[in-house]
Amino acid sequence: MNLALHLRRSALAFGERPAIAIGRHVVLDYGQLAARSAALAAALRTKLGLAAGSRVSLVMGNCAEYLELLYACWHAGLVAVPVNAKLHAKEIHYILAHSGAQLCFTTPALGSTLAEAVKGLAVEVIQTESTAYQTMLKHAPEPPLVLADDTPAWLFYTSGTTGRPKGAILSHGNLRAMSFCYFTDVDRVSPWRSLLHLAPMSHGSGLYALPHVMRASCHVIPESGGFDPTEAFDLIAEWEASVFFAAPTMIRRLIDHPADSDLSNLKTIIYGGGPMYLEDSLAAIERFGPRLAQLYGQGESPMTISALPAEVHADREHPNWHARLASVGMPQSAVEVAIRRDGEWLPAGGVGEVVVRGATVMSGYWEQPDASRETLRDGWLHTGDYGFFDEHGFLTLKDRAKDLIISGGTNIYPREVEEVLLTHPKVVEVSVIGRPDPQWGESVVAFVVSTGNPPPDVAELDRHCLEHIARFKRPRAYRFVTELPKNNYGKVLKTVLREIETRELPNKQSQ
Ligand code: AMP
Repeated sequence: MNLALHLRRSALAFGERPAIAIGRHVVLDYGQLAARSAALAAALRTKLGLAAGSRVSLVMGNCAEYLELLYACWHAGLVAVPVNAKLHAKEIHYILAHSGAQLCFTTPALGSTLAEAVKGLAVEVIQTESTAYQTMLKHAPEPPLVLADDTPAWLFYTSGTTGRPKGAILSHGNLRAMSFCYFTDVDRVSPWRSLLHLAPMSHGSGLYALPHVMRASCHVIPESGGFDPTEAFDLIAEWEASVFFAAPTMIRRLIDHPADSDLSNLKTIIYGGGPMYLEDSLAAIERFGPRLAQLYGQGESPMTISALPAEVHADREHPNWHARLASVGMPQSAVEVAIRRDGEWLPAGGVGEVVVRGATVMSGYWEQPDASRETLRDGWLHTGDYGFFDEHGFLTLKDRAKDLIISGGTNIYPREVEEVLLTHPKVVEVSVIGRPDPQWGESVVAFVVSTGNPPPDVAELDRHCLEHIARFKRPRAYRFVTELPKNNYGKVLKTVLREIETRELPNKQSQ
């Protein structure tokens, strides 16, 4: 079934309802959005002559055209390749070349980056404010192509915290199952809801646009095109029944923002995409009340591995409340989740790799058969995340396999050390990595962003760790930095920290 049918259905039943707003102003209703999208689809097929299955890239920041183009691609049976607009021209070049995109849509602001990115490639570029785009909008619509569920819809290039990004092939069936899970496991949706796109639509926010198109909610795109805490609070105050998706680093910035905002319209904040520390969850609940829901997923099973619903966040009296907040919740309804180590299936309490199978799991990586075989083994997606289930079925993540520190033959999970350091009043952000150590194999190093100058005393941090975790887990060195390196989705780049550590080791302040 073609995902474009959902937009058509919403337009038929709720044609007058707002579909897209920029800031406070509605720019398209559902009738207009569906009509524009269908016209673009017709132009893609007839004028530009793209055959079903051709790749079309969207290199744009969050904008009103995003959704009409995404659904136009699907309407015409094409595969969308959304690309984060903040990537470097060389990274965009790689994705365009690797996906074999024939056409790329972009916005005027990205003109020069795109000119650089397409050098040497046979990709046609169309800007959303060009006359070519306006002409496309005049094409006579045709019905959406009839598609099988396993037809590729979205090549989801992973954020690439290591190495080159890989393009997870997500089908119409995968994305429909993801949307159903959203309704069942994450949040309620209706035409009277407003989804604020504070995070990139090329990633999390764009994926969760789908259940909101299915139920004809309004998509609100900030005028800044992205995340600005002051603007976010203004939009929350303005829009009816608002909901938004945010990475944990964004939640931290919202918590730290001066508080006198009107939150009465705010329904749900969905966070995920990276570890949320217990300290931050508690602060977020304090600030926003019982409006938080967490999800855990990855490009290979988009947004859909597990979820921690709002009711669990609100259940303060539960004896496991803290442990549950530190978990990523329960498996979502369309997937089976298990823990595996060295080919063995582990019972509750056993730490191993999180593996997933079900309707949301990708069919493989685009043009990467070796990586696909390695990741999809025995019918299970191997996530590369380590974790364990408790006896009530709540999943807690430890760390990515590659971030695990092995010191003196013992596993140290960086997250555990990070959680402890974050409870120190002078620590704002922290990231823990392993560095090669001739005696221990690896030793623990903590990169710390502190509340100010001078940074906290190393002996004090050491004492703090010894009060909470085993001696062998405590950092052997601290690096005080003004900020942590992050990728465009706000995820801390431990690879960069490891590089810094190896490169600059002799000049650093250490314990
Ligand atoms: P991406 O494919 O770029 O969305 O990255 C997916 C990875 O982000 C997962 O494999 C996890 O390592 C991490 N991740 C996603 N959601 C969560 C979460 N709720 N808590 C901790 N880590 C997460």
